[in-house]
Amino acid sequence: MHHNVTQKECKRCGKCCVAGGPALHIEDRNLVVTGRLKPSHLITFRSGEPAYDPRGKRIVFLKKELIKIRGQEKIGACMFYDKDKNSCTVYSWRPLECRLLKCWDTSELEGVFMKDLLTRRHLIPDGSILYTLIDRYETLFGLEQLCAAAADLATGKSSIVNRLKVLIDKDLEFRRAVIRGFSISSVDLDFFLGRPVSEILAPMIGDS
Ligand code: SF4
Repeated sequence: MHHNVTQKECKRCGKCCVAGGPALHIEDRNLVVTGRLKPSHLITFRSGEPAYDPRGKRIVFLKKELIKIRGQEKIGACMFYDKDKNSCTVYSWRPLECRLLKCWDTSELEGVFMKDLLTRRHLIPDGSILYTLIDRYETLFGLEQLCAAAADLATGKSSIVNRLKVLIDKDLEFRRAVIRGFSISSVDLDFFLGRPVSEILAPMIGDS
């Protein structure tokens, strides 16, 4: 736990927002249901994906699905962070983690870390066309399968590299079909389906 006894209130330094957007919790569900947070603001990280753990400062494989607010291109700061004004553009309705984060005493935030996380199941009705699509995607591009293929890369066999390339191409094809068939933008797909396979595998396969 980080505890700075001399600081008692937020100095609006923006450091927390620069580190990236928050993960959403069930308590934040209404922000999505009421349309304040739209699919284009969100990215789904599927269970099993490699992701940066800010506490351990290392890459871990997620044990649960989580939905995060998107980062700004290149700098990675939360998309709602206004660098020039050093402020949050959605401050009055910022999500739970942002309300709890006090950088001088992180105990409240740590209390909710990875707990009661909002997932697509809380937002997309079971049995809906969208959910059927998500299920189909999980069958075709499940994280277990992707990570196993990436781990096999160490064997150096060119057949493994080809297998991964086929997966990446198939994923792109699947996404293009969804964009055409369901009129969903590619940005929104990062919420509905999660990140493209190429992005998920990038840290594991490097320049292979
Ligand atoms: S929602 Fe606002 S307070 Fe939360 S990380 Fe983004 S800019 Fe910062």
